[in-house]
Amino acid sequence: MKCRHCKSFLLKKILDLGVTPPSNAYLKKSDIFKKENFYPLRLYVCENCFLVQVEDFVNSEDLFTADYAYFSSASKTFLKYIKEFTKQIINEFKLNKNSFVIEIASNDGYLLKNFLAKKIPCLGIEPTKSTFLESKKLKIKAINEFFNSKLAESLSLDKKKADLIIANNVYAHVPDINDFTIGLKRILKPNGVVSLEFHHVLNLIKYNLFDIVYHEHFSYLSLGVVDKIFRKFGLKVFDAKKILTHGGSLRVYGCHLEHSRNIKDSVNKILKEEINYGLNNINKYNYLQKNEEKVKNELINFLKKKKKKKKNFFFVS
Ligand SMILES: [Zn+2]
Repeated sequence: MKCRHCKSFLLKKILDLGVTPPSNAYLKKSDIFKKENFYPLRLYVCENCFLVQVEDFVNSEDLFTADYAYFSSASKTFLKYIKEFTKQIINEFKLNKNSFVIEIASNDGYLLKNFLAKKIPCLGIEPTKSTFLESKKLKIKAINEFFNSKLAESLSLDKKKADLIIANNVYAHVPDINDFTIGLKRILKPNGVVSLEFHHVLNLIKYNLFDIVYHEHFSYLSLGVVDKIFRKFGLKVFDAKKILTHGGSLRVYGCHLEHSRNIKDSVNKILKEEINYGLNNINKYNYLQKNEEKVKNELINFLKKKKKKKKNFFFVS
């Protein structure tokens, strides 16, 4: 397989979790005795550009299906977080009824409803039908498609360019990250801002968070790699912030490369931290598999000991 960004051959495997079914592919009662689809789950790092990525086995169409089960509105804590985020971003970039906001992966309308409440025109793009239909109930304008450079081209021809593009927890979910970035560039107004959130790969490596590796995440991203991809396609990161979601994520703001916005110190600080930790040193990635196996073996030994003592386990949800 070749790197999703720079197209170098991927030779450095850093984690092999065997074979698993896609994480949101819940079974119906009638499916229980049918054959379930399992796919290899392996993580590689590109030795040229340091993009950490899952080996290609599953297509987006097989993961983000019409009956997709993840509805963002299910978590009250997340809704509260999103309400605060919306309030802050509206103030920060002075958005009003003359602005236009596009959210990519708008899910069930959990976020755009806050813009609607402030009468700020917005558009959602959501590939899964189950969540898209839910957002329609909130009267949110949305397109039921995957976002890519082709869709961006037609939006741009239709004069639907954005002052703000929000793509939270989606940049890591796209198989063709280059094409997606070309799309962002196409639908961004000259003074527009792109806001992305993604799990910070620094935490995955540093804290051995192998349990966040799953097929829906095609990439695990650092600020350095995101800025590299942005710059390749005419964008730049001008602000970045660490946030607590998903075991430690980053929120980054981007704009057109040619825009005069200054790069904030926060960006250089995080870039420095990534380099000091060793994200640009290929040997730093050697420990993930060993650490994962240590956790696995400890758990198996614990269960064996309990079994010997004939202890029962009760799981309380
Ligand atoms: Zn690469």
